[in-house]
Amino acid sequence: MTSSTLAPSDQMIAVHNHGHVHLEDSMGSDLHIVNNARVSFDQESEEFTAKERGLLNFLMRERHGSPWESVVFRFDVKVPIFVMREWARHRISSTNEQSGRYSVMPDHFYVPEREYIREQVGKPGSYSFEPITDPAVVDSTIELIEQTQRAAFDAYHQMLEQGVAKELARTVLPVGMYSRMKWTVNLRALFNFLSLRNDVHAQREIRDYAVAVEELAKQVVPVAFEVFEENGRVCP
Ligand SMILES: Cc1cc2nc3c(=O)[nH]c(=O)nc-3n(C[C@H](O)[C@H](O)[C@H](O)COP(=O)(O)OP(=O)(O)OC[C@H]3O[C@@H](n4cnc5c(N)ncnc54)[C@H](O)[C@@H]3O)c2cc1C
Repeated sequence: MTSSTLAPSDQMIAVHNHGHVHLEDSMGSDLHIVNNARVSFDQESEEFTAKERGLLNFLMRERHGSPWESVVFRFDVKVPIFVMREWARHRISSTNEQSGRYSVMPDHFYVPEREYIREQVGKPGSYSFEPITDPAVVDSTIELIEQTQRAAFDAYHQMLEQGVAKELARTVLPVGMYSRMKWTVNLRALFNFLSLRNDVHAQREIRDYAVAVEELAKQVVPVAFEVFEENGRVCP
């Protein structure tokens, strides 16, 4: 893959207390997508003009999917395990994750901000999530989340000190702990991810990551993201 033209400082976005999304590499451009489509007619565009923009809009509107696959991104992401589990459902992508068998997991776990403490209201199919306004409940929730995860990490380290294998000691670690992965995804599959995860129905935590992913990816293919938006954020 060719290196992204983004400045290093523009490629990393911090998320929550310990997470991040880092665009490490990308291949392709708006013009690549156009030329992948133009090969059908044995033609090629040298520059990106209003005509090329019109073609991108046509491809998106008519859901011609494969030209979008010519753009590829590689992200380094650090997310809590419960977010990783949702992320991993996106099979049309490649992942390599930090191993709890071979490395000591850092004492990093997710503790939500106060405004993230919420309740679930409604019934299946039409849930909504409303902030809890009672400050005592907010305080005790944050305290429980923090204390419980801290205790789990204390037990983990105690076992490691006693010589227990990392692969076994990790069984006590919580789903709020952070892990890192490399995520390689093409633009078509990324649009599918974003249509589902940067959406009001997605859990707020993964949505925050999806917002960061979108912000970074759109700097590589800005027009592709414009036509994605203009056509209702439907994956082509
Ligand atoms: C709000 C929300 C709630 C969810 N709740 C649950 C839940 O309760 N339980 C749960 O298990 N999952 C749940 N999911 C996960 C969801 O069902 C999908 O697995 C996930 O969003 C990945 O989407 P995808 O399959 O389109 O993506 P990818 O796996 O990246 O696939 C991309 C596209 O490739 C095609 N494709 C990939 N694999 C196949 C295949 N085997 N056969 C045919 N076509 C294929 C499809 O067109 C698919 O859309 C939820 C997702 C969201 C966004």
